[in-house]
Amino acid sequence: MGFTCPNIDGTVAKGGCIYCENESFSPNLTKENRAFKLNQASAQNPYLESQLAQLEYQYKKSKTKLAKKFGAQKFIVYFQSFTNTYAPFSTLKALYEKALELPDAIGISVGTRSDCMSEEILEFLRRKKDEGKEIWIEYGVQSIHNETLKLINRGHDYENAAFWIKKTKEAGLNVCVHLIFGLPKESQEMMLQSAKAVIDLGVDSLKIHPLYITKHTKLAHDFNAGLFTPISEELYLDTLTKAIKMLPDNIYLQRITAGVNPLVAPLWCRDSHPQKNRAKRALKEAGFEY
Ligand code: SF4
Repeated sequence: MGFTCPNIDGTVAKGGCIYCENESFSPNLTKENRAFKLNQASAQNPYLESQLAQLEYQYKKSKTKLAKKFGAQKFIVYFQSFTNTYAPFSTLKALYEKALELPDAIGISVGTRSDCMSEEILEFLRRKKDEGKEIWIEYGVQSIHNETLKLINRGHDYENAAFWIKKTKEAGLNVCVHLIFGLPKESQEMMLQSAKAVIDLGVDSLKIHPLYITKHTKLAHDFNAGLFTPISEELYLDTLTKAIKMLPDNIYLQRITAGVNPLVAPLWCRDSHPQKNRAKRALKEAGFEY
């Protein structure tokens, strides 16, 4: 929807997380995907009309596709790319309201960083929830270990993430946490500690995926220089299985892989179909359905 990220534009840091493919590393990023440069201090947004039109266009396109493929009739509008609470409040309000009014949309899911959440946004979304809308906030936490968060140039610590997750739950909203397994210098024990800690915070769901290396990133540079080894499929599936065993019945695992293209490494993630089959097999052996 044309948001950018404070970890890219220099507000928190420049360049973003080391695995993030953004303009710093990808000068050829398409115009459609390129984030608008909004003045965060101003309520004026010269791009708002384009953002609203893009929202309507993308929704229509995805709705038609999902209705055809799965017979879906009701939809949650997913604000996915970059940081979807990083804009003046008037812009967020206009976009979220528009999304909630789209035909057959029952709610929204907003992907963001915890350091870009505010009481004002939570209060607005809480009111929408009270009106009967399904509201999800997806926080990219990735790891609870601050030494890892520093290594990946995350730009905030775990304490900030935990604070806003608790606040979001107190507002009665659904929380989905994103975790990455295979971050630099993380042992299996550390990855499982991350899973356990966010489960203990009372989140509603998790999305987990292995750390992917894409071309125009700092991580790709480190990988090509032999400074980083991606997680193996065996270790990923073993860690995933152990993390799933910790999940109480009321916490859903929404995702165990994410499509990335073009992928530099790990190569076992390149073909999603066989990868999903191997994951299915491993999870079945551990007594789970996927
Ligand atoms: S928070 Fe997301 S958008 Fe921002 S730099 Fe990290 S991966 Fe990229």
